[in-house]
Amino acid sequence: MAENIAAEARSVAGAAEQVEALIIGAGFAGLYQLHSLRDRLGMKALVLEAADGVGGTWYWNRYPGARCDSESHSYCYYFSRELLEEWEWSERYPGQEEIRHYLNHVADRFDLRQDIRLSDRVISARFDDAATLWHVTTASGKRYAAPFLITGVGCLSSANVPDIPGLEDFKGDWYHTGEWPHEGVDFHGKRVGQIGTGSTGIQSAPVIAASAEHLTVFQRTANYSIPARNAPLTEDFKRHISEHRDEIHEIMVSTPNGHPFRIEERLAASVSEEERQAIYEEAWQKGGLRFRAVFKDLMVDKAANDTASDFIKAKIREIVKDPKTAELLSNLDHPFGTKRPPIDSNYFETFNRDNVTLVDIKSDPIKRITDTGIETGHAHYDLDILVFATGFDAITGPLLRLNITGKNGLALKDAWAAGPKTYLGLQIAGFPNLFTITGPGSPSVLTNMPVSIEQHVDWITDCIRQMRQKGRTRIEATEQAAETWVAETNRAAEATLLPLANSSWYLGANVSGKPRVFMPYAGGLQHYRARCDAVAEAGYEGFVLS
Ligand code: NAP
Repeated sequence: MAENIAAEARSVAGAAEQVEALIIGAGFAGLYQLHSLRDRLGMKALVLEAADGVGGTWYWNRYPGARCDSESHSYCYYFSRELLEEWEWSERYPGQEEIRHYLNHVADRFDLRQDIRLSDRVISARFDDAATLWHVTTASGKRYAAPFLITGVGCLSSANVPDIPGLEDFKGDWYHTGEWPHEGVDFHGKRVGQIGTGSTGIQSAPVIAASAEHLTVFQRTANYSIPARNAPLTEDFKRHISEHRDEIHEIMVSTPNGHPFRIEERLAASVSEEERQAIYEEAWQKGGLRFRAVFKDLMVDKAANDTASDFIKAKIREIVKDPKTAELLSNLDHPFGTKRPPIDSNYFETFNRDNVTLVDIKSDPIKRITDTGIETGHAHYDLDILVFATGFDAITGPLLRLNITGKNGLALKDAWAAGPKTYLGLQIAGFPNLFTITGPGSPSVLTNMPVSIEQHVDWITDCIRQMRQKGRTRIEATEQAAETWVAETNRAAEATLLPLANSSWYLGANVSGKPRVFMPYAGGLQHYRARCDAVAEAGYEGFVLS
């Protein structure tokens, strides 16, 4: 707070640098938005980035085992055929370092760096109604102004370190996975405690266990996981991909989740028990998120979902040798897929190691952190290193921490006091000319992210192009359109099993005090895309242009 006030005070003295569009964040979204506005529309645009390098999520999340859950040939930009053809992925799922290299390559290839300001965090953004200008201030006190402000801050970039009493007393080292030290962490000879068993914890535990003296995993909610079956890409597969790019892309943009595979048309109950088991077994052996796509009703019919859930529970019990540990790991309290399903490399197998212990903190919650470890109601665990794999203040957190103020002094935190309200996840009533790439109310986090990002950036770019052609300078979502979209987002979620996961970050349930609202649009990316296109074709229905 003091830092913010000092920066605001410093900024009053310096003149603002004015451009035509300001973009916040240099990840997948910000890089493509800069390229689109600058190189397609000829606009003077600038990206502001807190980190000292590009990459967004893939800059920060350097924790052990960090890897994408979408397949490499789909987790990339499709806007440039040349880029697609010159970049070669090495593994089925790209690791953090490879994706970071890819995004650095993109920044160089499209000559983006000259318009990116690194190492300076945006601390406030304020709309000047009379001038139709967004004024942005950074932590170093620099000021910028532009008619358009576009956020590309990601959905999972605001680290959530839970408020457990005593953390300040801990004498060892502690880390959040989303803000991992660049030089890495040496676990040799250390007793490590990991809190959290989401996608991140499920990836990090096997890698930490491989070098730590002992790893204690503190599990609050048991989680599903499907084997990733990661492997180097074969030359045959690479050739296949390069010969079928258009078909692959067509599948990605016409399915609900943006992945390069279709959801099977059959229902879980349409096949015999024996056939169903064989289908699940084959999907388990192939690995990855495709497991969720073997029947079309897994996400909408509880009985269908139970068949997948039972299969996975049986697998966990088969893999994990100690029956008590197996019971804790398979004691799942939500339908499969209602939290983003992790994929893993030997997660459940890790609990067969002699140096790994699972602690159930649902039945015996953490009371406090002491100077030497973690104290639960019934035990004390001595630890040298504490790893928080405790997730993020997701979707709204990265936007709220920008301190955005719209028309009439309306602060975003007040506008969203009861939960986020957007029109199509792209705009907020009362905040003209502000676009939110992958904002709440869009399908983004339920999809393969780059596919959603490209769709949003293309839509925004086209919108600004049309505004310029028609001499319009301002676009603002109406309150009515936003209300209607929130209702539609709620209806879409209720038509699925997704709201049944009580502790899901989709609902904001992992952050204390956060309103419990299902934030993403669950009606499917292909329907959402059609809706956005229809809105544009109807002259930006639901927006006021002036
Ligand atoms: P997450 O899914 O929110 O999981 C956080 C974990 O920490 C949960 O097990 C949660 O338990 C636990 N936790 C949180 N606060 C706690 C507390 N106070 N005490 C004890 N336990 C606590 O976060 P994440 O694992 O970082 O994953 C977030 C998302 O990032 C994923 O769903 C995915 O979309 C993305 N991601 C993707 C990949 C990939 O591409 N492979 C990898 C990592 C992350 P509860 O469930 O009980 O709340």
